[in-house]
Amino acid sequence: MAATYTFNPGPSAVYPAVRGYLQDAFDEGWLAAPHRSEKVTNLVRQTVTDLKTKLNIPQDYTVLFTGSATECWEILVQSLTPRRSFHLYNGDFGHKWLKYAQAQRPESTGVVFGLDEVPNFATLPQPLDSYDLVAITQNETSTATQLREGFILNLFNRLGNALLAVDATSSMAGINLKFIKADVWLASVQKCFGLPAGLGILVLSPRAVAQAKAVNDRAHYNALPAMLSQMLNHQTNYTPNVLGIYLLGRVLAEREPIKTVHQHLVDRAEKLYAFFEHNTPLTPLITNPETRSTTVIGLRGEAALIDEIKAKAKEAGLHLGSGYGPLKNTTIRIANFPAVPDAAFEALVQFFVKEFPG
Ligand SMILES: *Cc1c(COP(=O)(O)O)cnc(C)c1O
Repeated sequence: MAATYTFNPGPSAVYPAVRGYLQDAFDEGWLAAPHRSEKVTNLVRQTVTDLKTKLNIPQDYTVLFTGSATECWEILVQSLTPRRSFHLYNGDFGHKWLKYAQAQRPESTGVVFGLDEVPNFATLPQPLDSYDLVAITQNETSTATQLREGFILNLFNRLGNALLAVDATSSMAGINLKFIKADVWLASVQKCFGLPAGLGILVLSPRAVAQAKAVNDRAHYNALPAMLSQMLNHQTNYTPNVLGIYLLGRVLAEREPIKTVHQHLVDRAEKLYAFFEHNTPLTPLITNPETRSTTVIGLRGEAALIDEIKAKAKEAGLHLGSGYGPLKNTTIRIANFPAVPDAAFEALVQFFVKEFPG
């Protein structure tokens, strides 16, 4: 039987090597290791070191482990936002983040921008630092759009005292993010890290750490002051996902530097967009090349055609991602994540050439 591949943008394909890592985790005694033992604190320290090295995270930034990206949103509301936050978004994940913020800080507001639009600074509230935190989604998985480095830098320069928080759930470990150009970065491992779900990553700048200390949230089990002081000893205030951290460490050890991974994904995305645009009955969902995502390729078509393509692809062992929210029936999403091998994309192209030439 031919290989099957999944292009679902989350949970997404895991690296085949994870199978062996799981066996090793069992055999090496990680599953019952006490989380305050030297064995586990050394693992946490080494994994944080490897994350910083492989992803180019500045040495003076702090890395924390959480349960999910969603948990990270809530931590930011509780521990870094005494008044309110401002959200710039164009899709479901960005909108959900705003809703979580408003549930606890009702003064939080947002501005929606178009899928083919680079947000216009004239639409932002003035001054931005009447908000504690400005929230953006670097890669909006639901709409297959991306905010480029130049935009983030420009926004960062307009913050005043506000913090810039970036959801990079579907780009961290795929895209070479400039961590120095924001105060908070959050992600989870079931997207570009190529791992099973259940571990979130929260990266804080020194400015964000200072803000956490000033706000001094003590009302939540996952309040930042407690998490930060535990992390000084490479510990957490609850029993962490040791297996997830172990798998992350193993995957990172095998990864190439992020610059190399980034270039590979950029080249692959360019080829895919060109192929789908010219050689299939589908068109890229996002028409503006400046706002297209590198890591999640969105394709648009008639609902009946989308159905037929998905069904036929599945028979051929190719699991395409469905559209999200209002785009569910008329779009397909294809994860261009590092753990999806080139062979999968070759199979995908061959499938379209044979079954759906355009
Ligand atoms: C998947 C995703 C999330 C949610 O991640 P969880 O780990 O399930 O909480 C948040 N933001 C974006 C952009 C995502 O792609």
